[in-house]
Amino acid sequence: MNEREHRMPVLFIGHGSPMNGIEDTEFSRRWAKMADEIPTPSAVLVVSAHWLSQGTRITAMDFPKTIHDFGGFPRELYEVQYNAPGDPALAKETASLLHSTQVELDHDWGLDHGAWTVVRHMYPAANIPVLQLSIDYTKGAQYHYDLARELFALRKKGVLIIGSGNMVHNLRMAAWDKLNTPGFGYDWALQLNDRFKQLISAGDFAALIDYESLGKEAKMAIPTPEHYLPLLYTLGLKDSKDTTSFFNDRAVAGSLTMTSVKLG
Ligand code: ZN
Repeated sequence: MNEREHRMPVLFIGHGSPMNGIEDTEFSRRWAKMADEIPTPSAVLVVSAHWLSQGTRITAMDFPKTIHDFGGFPRELYEVQYNAPGDPALAKETASLLHSTQVELDHDWGLDHGAWTVVRHMYPAANIPVLQLSIDYTKGAQYHYDLARELFALRKKGVLIIGSGNMVHNLRMAAWDKLNTPGFGYDWALQLNDRFKQLISAGDFAALIDYESLGKEAKMAIPTPEHYLPLLYTLGLKDSKDTTSFFNDRAVAGSLTMTSVKLG
């Protein structure tokens, strides 16, 4: 792969409901528009909230399968096949960049809904290779942030890296009856969402890594860390030349936010 003159931006995308994968929503429309606004990547590498493993793995198959890792949704959603190729050579190259852990080349996973529900709107032709990097659930926030920094060289090679989760994500507290009330968020969720944006804009990543010290709002927003950690991968890939912007900055069903970040 040739080094590109310009580095690719890095994204954190709030993926929300799997239904965004097949519906024309304000969120899925923005994902498609984002793909039009940024350079066409040579490959896409997704760190999804929905692939947790012991140790770090990277998909290394020629053709990753579409994984329907959810329950109780319409048949139409289960019928989606997103047939983007993999890129085994890039998987090996990425594994070799990560010095702080031994990355396993994976031939079993594929594309889970944290990846395909977003990427199929961005690249509907499915002609750009898509890989996933797993989240080692045995490690803490600082580890994930530091690991992301080791991926920086991929940005200069045209790889679009996407952290896919949700900053505020508490399904147990969700007000499902307000699902169709646009922007409905509990006060604590909206306050924390604003705080996250302030810290991201200010580059105060230490506070975001130490999210458990951000008070009771953070405990409610992040009852388990898997939807938050992808944000730390995105932030770990920032450098001083990047500008920060937000999109899809909306709450859903009270206790979820779709707030997404573009760096670069
Ligand atoms: Zn999710």
